[in-house]
Amino acid sequence: MTNQSVPVNRPIRSVCVYCGSRDGNRPTYREGAAALGTALANAGVRLVYGGARVGLMGVIADAALAAGGEVYGVIPRSMTDRELAHTGLTELNIVETMHQRKLAMIDAADAFIAMPGGFGTLEELFEVLTWHQLGWHDKPCGLLDVDGFYAPLAACMQHMLAEDFVAARHVERVHRAAEPTRLLAMMGVAVDDQEPRTQQHRR
Ligand code: AMP
Repeated sequence: MTNQSVPVNRPIRSVCVYCGSRDGNRPTYREGAAALGTALANAGVRLVYGGARVGLMGVIADAALAAGGEVYGVIPRSMTDRELAHTGLTELNIVETMHQRKLAMIDAADAFIAMPGGFGTLEELFEVLTWHQLGWHDKPCGLLDVDGFYAPLAACMQHMLAEDFVAARHVERVHRAAEPTRLLAMMGVAVDDQEPRTQQHRR
């Protein structure tokens, strides 16, 4: 993992955020999700996410929308009840399978961020990391490290590296920061935190 900023080939207009379908047990998780949603909207970057209202997914979507951002959600039809599909998004894409959901989210995004979450979040994160390893995309990836949530995973990745199960270049390209605008800047998003987008629109 790295805290170095890297140049990217394309402007980042959409960021896919993977996050928990639960809130976690610290208020900082919800606060971090809201801050990331707001930061994306203020940067003029579309949020791509799982299309649900539950857990941190709902928090980040509501925050991005409240700050004037665009939000694109993708949810399998069979999960619209279980994860409570968000009906107030800029666009909600209801697909038939989980695999279609994940592919649609990957295709729609220029970069990926994992918030704190559970098995589903990690499964989605490692899918984009392994697809990069296979050379199927070259989009930046990052971890929003709220309250050090991802320190154990970072340590695990370093262990995999030390034991020679993964190449350094694949570990080092995973950015990690606790603060949303810092993480976005590290990933190559043009972040201007001087003035919220909603205020710019009011001019
Ligand atoms: P979780 O982190 O377990 O709360 O899940 C976050 C999101 O990942 C939820 O919207 C899940 O539907 C989704 N997800 C994606 N892939 C999977 C998978 N293979 N198994 C379970 N959930 C998944």
